[in-house]
Amino acid sequence: MKLLLLAGLIVFVVMWLQRPKDRPLPGGPARQLRLTTEPMLPCAQCGVHAPSSEMLHDAAGRAYCCEEHRSLYAAR
Ligand SMILES: [Zn+2]
Repeated sequence: MKLLLLAGLIVFVVMWLQRPKDRPLPGGPARQLRLTTEPMLPCAQCGVHAPSSEMLHDAAGRAYCCEEHRSLYAAR
């Protein structure tokens, strides 16, 4: 009986040691790369943060989340 418990314990330890480790983030490697390299910018009008490449920019370099907010900020 002791031998059976010991065998079960060994199987458990081996399975625990072989468990999958460093799992990738959801979204795959492309998303991981974007998360680590692209800066997040706040919209000058409403303050919402978005990735730099998804923002609209004006001549002064300010970032906006959409065309409407760019024109609203310009009309101030
Ligand atoms: Zn905005």
